[in-house]
Amino acid sequence: MAQSIQAGDNPIQAYDLAVIGGGINGAGIAADAAGRGLSVFLCERDDLASHTSSASSKLVHGGLRYLEHYEFRLVREALAEREVLLRKAPHIVRPMRFVLPHRPHLRPAWMIRAGLFLYDHLGKREQLPGSHGVKFDSASALKPSIKRGFEYSDCWVDDARLVVLNAQAAQEKGANIQTRTACVGAHKDGEGWLVTLQRADGSRYSIRCRALVNAAGPWVAKLLGEQLRERSPYGIRLVQGSHIIVPRLYEGEHAFILQNEDRRIVFAIPYLDRYTMIGTTDREYRGDPAQVAITEAEIDYLLGVVNDHFRYQVRREEILHSFSGVRPLCDDESDNPSAITRDYTLALADGPAPLLSVFGGKLTTYRKLAESAMAQLKPYFPTMGAPWTADAPLPGGEEMGTDVGGLAHALQREVRGLPATLAARWATTYGQRSWRLLGEVRDISGLGECLGADLYAREVDYLCEAEWASEADDVLWRRTKLGLVFNADERTRLERYLAERLSTREPNAA
Ligand SMILES: Cc1cc2nc3c(=O)[nH]c(=O)nc-3n(C[C@H](O)[C@H](O)[C@H](O)COP(=O)(O)OP(=O)(O)OC[C@H]3O[C@@H](n4cnc5c(N)ncnc54)[C@H](O)[C@@H]3O)c2cc1C
Repeated sequence: MAQSIQAGDNPIQAYDLAVIGGGINGAGIAADAAGRGLSVFLCERDDLASHTSSASSKLVHGGLRYLEHYEFRLVREALAEREVLLRKAPHIVRPMRFVLPHRPHLRPAWMIRAGLFLYDHLGKREQLPGSHGVKFDSASALKPSIKRGFEYSDCWVDDARLVVLNAQAAQEKGANIQTRTACVGAHKDGEGWLVTLQRADGSRYSIRCRALVNAAGPWVAKLLGEQLRERSPYGIRLVQGSHIIVPRLYEGEHAFILQNEDRRIVFAIPYLDRYTMIGTTDREYRGDPAQVAITEAEIDYLLGVVNDHFRYQVRREEILHSFSGVRPLCDDESDNPSAITRDYTLALADGPAPLLSVFGGKLTTYRKLAESAMAQLKPYFPTMGAPWTADAPLPGGEEMGTDVGGLAHALQREVRGLPATLAARWATTYGQRSWRLLGEVRDISGLGECLGADLYAREVDYLCEAEWASEADDVLWRRTKLGLVFNADERTRLERYLAERLSTREPNAA
């Protein structure tokens, strides 16, 4: 539990650990630390997952292409994490087959077979099927000149929800999670840090902590230099990656991994039943990470790669949505942005006030990164608990097995009038927490006003109360993906509902 220290009229809360940044790495570290018995505070300047952690390709993957860069440590760890995360969160992580069309002039078949052999065997694999060769017939969505390829397994994840579930797990273990709260300064103060925080309304307050974690993602070096007045031990390379979403390009639940002439790869991934998500790019980025947006050249590039492979030629005007993120990569002085290591580096500034900074990393390996962070902080908290996250379900993933369909049927059975599509959406969004969302409600009329698509007031209330949602984008793009189907009027209705709701409730106390 956090302790209260009196400073003048204002009690200052004191924690073992304060984490700055509510992306996957900050949320993962907060959850791990809280579960080991540390008192934990996390602040996120915007919404949880509002930056890189909601703009990923949404894959829990070993990273087949990293083998070409000899990143065996990273690939082994990431491969093994696929099944760990499948078990922890079967509602938001699901197995996916990937089809790799063979382009002999880019990579010979023997090289791909060797890579897939390693991919099948480097990491522990119990549930996911292995790789094999495939032949394409006249029914294939690919161009007739592409006659054969390979198939292997990885997983898909709802990236933003993975962050929210880790924040929930942290909170349930006692952590204090504050969104829309920026760290605007911190200085060493005896055996620890005094951290100054600023809420969205401009008001400020302070907390104390023994150890500080800088998980600010693309802002890791800026936070060090500007707020903490420390030298960054590593350079950071910001590499933009963008995706486009188009109407579904092909039938089937598998993804394609497409090899481009520049030897990069681009994924085409089935997205929310009706769409295909295409990405990503790798582009050195020098602007403000909060302002990153897809460029015309990136759109041309992505359309070029898909149209080289598929019979159907996607036109620019068919793009329904795009999103971009900035990878915060540890600078290894590589000339080529796509060759910079995707592995993570933790930098510990030792001393009476320890500071741990996170550089790089993948969504896939966030849990292992958090375990490494705890191992580095152990000397300061010798009584902290043992690693615990590998076998612990994330909120909603309890007692689910892999039967997400069974949960959707149970929801439909229990709630009169609940459409199958809504039950399925809840099952794959909230898992067992769908029952908490419902409370005593057993008839669709109890869900309140329909704000657009299949979003009812009851779900929005749940998102505000249990998942830190407060703005329309939090609900439409990060807690759900309903932004793709909401029209302008529906959005306005949701904004009005949120504004009314928030004006009648007490703000979340720090
Ligand atoms: C295009 C793209 C595709 C990717 N695809 C995959 C993939 O398929 N699979 C995979 O495993 N990985 C993937 N990744 C990598 C993965 O998304 C990132 O490694 C991961 O999301 C980084 O998380 P983070 O927590 O470090 O950063 P972020 O998610 O950016 O979180 C950092 C947070 O810190 C907050 N912050 C910054 N400064 C302050 C402050 N002063 N006070 C309070 N808060 C602050 C920010 O607002 C931000 O929310 C991809 C990345 C990109 C860009």
